[in-house]
Parts: sequence; C-alpha cells; structure tokens
Amino acid sequence: MLAGVFESIGTFKLKEVEEPQIQHATDIKIMVEAASICGTDVHILSNPPSHPATPNTVLGHEFVGRIIEKGEDVQGLEVGDRVIIDPTITCEVCVYCQSGHTNVCENFTTIGIFENGGWAKYCVAPARNAHKISEEIPVELAAMAEPLSCVVNASEKLQTKPGDAVVILGAGPMGQLFVQMQKAAGAGKIIVVDFSEYRLEIAKKSGATHVVNPNVEKVEDVVAELTRIGADSVVDCVGMLFDQAIQLVRKAGNVLLLGMNDKALPAIHQCTITGKELTIYGSIIQNYHFPKVVQLLESNVLNLEALITEAVELKDVEKGLQLMREGKAIKIIIKP
Ligand SMILES: [Zn+2]
Ligand SMILES: [Zn+2]
Repeated sequence: MLAGVFESIGTFKLKEVEEPQIQHATDIKIMVEAASICGTDVHILSNPPSHPATPNTVLGHEFVGRIIEKGEDVQGLEVGDRVIIDPTITCEVCVYCQSGHTNVCENFTTIGIFENGGWAKYCVAPARNAHKISEEIPVELAAMAEPLSCVVNASEKLQTKPGDAVVILGAGPMGQLFVQMQKAAGAGKIIVVDFSEYRLEIAKKSGATHVVNPNVEKVEDVVAELTRIGADSVVDCVGMLFDQAIQLVRKAGNVLLLGMNDKALPAIHQCTITGKELTIYGSIIQNYHFPKVVQLLESNVLNLEALITEAVELKDVEKGLQLMREGKAIKIIIKP
C-alpha cells in the first residue's frame, strides 16, 4: 500500500510499504477514511527535527477509519464500526498510568510518530485506543479528534464561566480549537493574538470576539481596554509567551501553557506570579478525554469546518506539508 513515511532525518517519502497485519488478539485493523496533517509532522520532518520520531515509520497520528478486521479478544467494537484513534499507547503499569495520569506515562509510544500511523490505506492499532463515532459525522471533522482531545484537556482546566474574558496567544490549529472550545464554554470576550492576518481572519470564524496583530496594535493596551482589569485567563498556544501571559492576566487569574517550544527560555518576573496570585497550568496531550471528544463531535457545537483549509489525496501530501510550513493552512485533510 502507498504510505507517507518519515524515512530519516529531514527525509519524507511516499512509498509502497507492506500492508499491516493484526499482531495481537486485542488489535483492530482499520481502513483509514481521513487523516490530517499536524504541526508536529512538520516538526518531525524539519532538519534538525524539533520533534522526535522513529525512522521508517508511517506518519499520521490524527485519523479516523473503519474497522475491517478485529483480533479475537476485542470486545465492544465490531467490524464495520467507524472509530477515531487516540494515538498514544500507554503502558498501564507505571505509577502515572496507575494513578490516572496516563498523559504523562513513563513508557508511552505514539501511533504515527513512533509506530506506523494513518497516512496510508490501512493501520493496525490496539482496540483500547479506538473510540466508536457516529456515521453522521463527516470524516473530515472526525479526523481532528486528536488535536481536539488535547484542547479539551487544556480548556477544562480553566473552568471558564459564562462571560469570562480569555486571551489566546497564537492562532494556529491549537489556538483555533481553543477559541472554539472557549466559545462553547461561554467565554464572553475571546481576544486572539497572532502576527498572521490569515490566521486572525479564521479566528473570527472560530469565535474570536476581538483579534489583535502585534504588528498593528499593542496587545497590552487592547487587553487593558477591553477587560479593564486584565483577562480572566490567558492561554499561550505558541510556547514561548509565558512572560507576556502573566502581564495580560488579571490578579487571581489563570495562565495556561499549551504550546511547546523546547528552545524557549523566557525571562519570567516570578514576583508577578506571586503578587497577582496567579494559577499556572501546563497541559500535555489528553487524559481520558476521547469520550468527551466523541460527544463534542456528535453534538456539533464547534465550527470545525472553518478550520479545514485544504484537502489533498495521499499522493499529494507533500504539497500539504509545504502549505503547513508556509503557514498557509490551518488543517489539511488527507484522504488515503
Ligand atoms: Zn497532532
Ligand atoms: Zn504508563
């Protein structure tokens, strides 16, 4: 079958690989119906890479498909079911898995990053990583389940109340999903900051009530004017704006750090955190949030359509990757 493969550092290849077969009695084999390109895929393929991955692995950790075969011990799922895939395979035995913090499992692996993923016609995965989803959900939207799960995990931490003012720094895919989740949670003012006018236009469709381009306006002034006391919550979807976030948030507010940049070492005025009595959250992937993602997708409370800026066939995935690199896309759907 044709597959999009991370071959070695900086090298991506579309090539014929062997069709995967069920290895364990608890596996399912899926015919992939739609996958999406993630910023992480771009990071994996950059040289030097800014995200680790196993060479000669089929990429694609965000996908939806139909079960075409199941191992003999698989329960609760049937051949023919449509499923979204949680790509993180946890060990279930480390202290974090056993205490309910599976997202920080000490021995995890990831489908589509360290194990073969969904940029191909078929994929084999453990049944416990699959979540059944309605036939009525367009596959293009269901393909966004994984990034949505990360945002659900993060968004729930803020416990946003109706009318809250929230600032979201960075309007890439995660920032856009965050805007949509905060809107659904009842935020009154959603102020989105990005240097890209293209992304800010899409942020308005996602539900931003105000957009700010720091090249045009001073973010601190806009937030002060709109909120008087500062935002109830500030979310850094870029991964290097902690310092700005603690300036924009009101006293006793929340700062949530979602974006990740391994190289960022922002100078932090620690006393501001203490003096304003801020609550700081980190958030990494998701932790039992897939059932909630199924509910969100099936209830259609988000505007995920607005985020699909391109659809390509698998053979054209490199074109999609290039659009992602150039910042000319939010979500690109691949149809294997
Ligand atoms: Zn992703
Ligand atoms: Zn574990």
